[in-house]
Amino acid sequence: MMVTAQRAWRLAWLLLGVVCLLPALLPLSSLPLLSDWLPALSHHVIPEKARYSPLSYWLLLTLVWQAQRRWPVTPAPFFSVAFRQDLVWYCASMGLRLLFLGAWAHAVVAFYSHYLGFLTLPGVAQWHPAVQFVLGVLLADFARWLSHLIRHKVPLFWAFHSVHHAQRDLNLFTDARVHPVDRMVSSLVTSLALLITGNGVPAVILWMVIETLYPKFYHANVRLDLGPLRYLLVTPQSHRVHHGVEHRYHDCNFGFLFSLWDRLFGTQHPDHRIWPATGIPDANFPVDRDGSPLGLLRTLCRQLVYPFLSLRRRA
Ligand SMILES: [Zn+2]
Ligand SMILES: [Zn+2]
Repeated sequence: MMVTAQRAWRLAWLLLGVVCLLPALLPLSSLPLLSDWLPALSHHVIPEKARYSPLSYWLLLTLVWQAQRRWPVTPAPFFSVAFRQDLVWYCASMGLRLLFLGAWAHAVVAFYSHYLGFLTLPGVAQWHPAVQFVLGVLLADFARWLSHLIRHKVPLFWAFHSVHHAQRDLNLFTDARVHPVDRMVSSLVTSLALLITGNGVPAVILWMVIETLYPKFYHANVRLDLGPLRYLLVTPQSHRVHHGVEHRYHDCNFGFLFSLWDRLFGTQHPDHRIWPATGIPDANFPVDRDGSPLGLLRTLCRQLVYPFLSLRRRA
């Protein structure tokens, strides 16, 4: 039974790879998905490269998937309920992104240029775009670190962010388990950091693409701490500690891409050999129990409502 399920899953994964290859073979203009649903992406992000992104995304997922199988932290059951629940979160979040990513990026840029344009660093327009982007990424990563810390410390924001922390079986799709309110707050903060350094819509969208890729790796159930690279980057080990259920792990490792800010401000957990259990200590959280399609959708709805009920309980 289990072997058949694994074979079916592998076949589905291969078929998905073939589907992801198609955009690379077709002319970009024949992709209604890109031109109609993602006008900002198709017009601004280097179109010739945009067509390869589904394939590279699939390849990245395959690599992380294999790493999970070879070096798991905990031997997770194949296609567990927790994994299925994250997959549902992933589909919901991708749907929202496909529909609103371009519009959201444009709205943020319009808001910034109307009300906050005075914050743009002077003389930044003369800089090379690559310098603007690198500086923007550094500032955005710092803003993300700071906003992450705030989302842990302020009860209103924690109510929404705790949904992400509730996963007990981390896997490569856990990065998608983010409440839309939590995601809007974090993407707003980081987009503003990019705009301050003179970056426009293409850079904001490119950042949003980066922020969907790297976290896949460090949320995976994979026993890697990246050796000396851990001094520069967030790793699966350091982020697992951040997700630790015990109280002593609650205020450390807030980094998003770089571990730099945690090391600079003393919030990096010093031990890189621990792999704690993850989750949140709230008995009221609607945990993933029902793996049927209807059950998964029901749990998703309950987890989306959870922050509001949690805030009401506290009030
Ligand atoms: Zn967190
Ligand atoms: Zn996380």
